[in-house]
Amino acid sequence: MKVHEYQARELLSEAGVPVPPSHVVKTTDEALAAFDKIGGRVAIKAQVFAGGRGKAGFVKLCDDTKQVREAASFMLSNRMVSVQTGPEGIEVKRLLVAGAVDIESEYYVAVVMDRGRRCPVVMVSREGGVEIEVVAAKNPDAICKEWLHPHVGLLGFQVAKLVAALGLTDKEQVKAAGRVIRGLTKVFHDYDCALAEINPLIRTPDGRILAIDAKMNFDDNAVFRHKRLQGMFDPSEENPNELRAKEFSLSYIPLDGNIGCLVNGAGLAMSTMDLIKLHGGEPANFLDVGGSVSTEGATEAFRIVLSDSKVKGVLVNIFGGIAKCDTIAEALIAAAKEIGFKLPVVVRLEGTNVDRARQLLQEAKIEALIPADDLTDAAKKVCIRVGRELE
Ligand code: GDP
Ligand code: MN
Repeated sequence: MKVHEYQARELLSEAGVPVPPSHVVKTTDEALAAFDKIGGRVAIKAQVFAGGRGKAGFVKLCDDTKQVREAASFMLSNRMVSVQTGPEGIEVKRLLVAGAVDIESEYYVAVVMDRGRRCPVVMVSREGGVEIEVVAAKNPDAICKEWLHPHVGLLGFQVAKLVAALGLTDKEQVKAAGRVIRGLTKVFHDYDCALAEINPLIRTPDGRILAIDAKMNFDDNAVFRHKRLQGMFDPSEENPNELRAKEFSLSYIPLDGNIGCLVNGAGLAMSTMDLIKLHGGEPANFLDVGGSVSTEGATEAFRIVLSDSKVKGVLVNIFGGIAKCDTIAEALIAAAKEIGFKLPVVVRLEGTNVDRARQLLQEAKIEALIPADDLTDAAKKVCIRVGRELE
């Protein structure tokens, strides 16, 4: 789960990280009112789940009402296209009007889960503001990392090392940066983050240390124990297919290719995608219907997979254990009747009640359904069917 910058700022502020004053607004008039309240220069910032806003023209510094009106109405009436969005961009529904600050230096500070080492890692860099991926690729030595023991957490000497890596020497600034690193780490820990990032953390010419942009991702599996985060959830910013899948306890992962995959079990999904790739295809998504699935849930699964306009063919790969093959077959037939399959749907079923499933499918006489003998056969068939699209 993600949250908006304004929500991330709230969590940071509560953890003792200084952030400039700000207001969230939904209209140009509200933006003007917020500008009045803050007094002086403001930064108007689109609140969307994508970065790269600065370069895209969706972070603007404004000194007077004319500039505020222009910036706010531009952002609220144009979709934002940045390096992190698709070419279709995203709609901007909210703006943050934040007190602007003068910047002397921009730093990067983040805590992320290091899967390789199975613990969180705190990363800082003096090259903040810009995309950290670029720094990591071109100048990895410019990033200082400290790994956190899961039980012990952040230790004093680690804070000292990280702050030193930022090149801070002034006593007050060293203290302030230390508080920021501790505060960010606290948020990461308290809210089960997968990522908590401040980019940039800035130093003003008069020596203040402030967070002026923040990004946070939370572990979906832990959201149930954080009422606070549940209240911050914004369904309008989520992929609608992922939401529908969640409602039916299905997991849906959108990808870039053109073959939709409907499978049961994440491991089976991985091997299905491996075989599709082996035979020259590219998966468009995979939808895991899980162990036990109803006909209704499976029908919804088809609806979701087929609603992705990139999909030119579907591979259904079910190993019937708890999920029975005949349930899936019934769902296939129901979905074909309800939605109509205009695309080839290659079906490989194996396991519990497979004979009954095959019989059902045969009797249904659905033209778009292509039975496969085994997984390799299925992968080959679906790749051949969408082959023309791949050229
Ligand atoms: P992002 O591009 O989506 O990461 O949005 P940011 O909030 O990080 O803003 C991008 C850049 O705009 C920052 O790196 C700053 O250089 C600049 N910026 C943002 N807010 C301010 C501000 O209050 N004052 C000044 N001088 N620059 C700002
Ligand atoms: Mn940023």
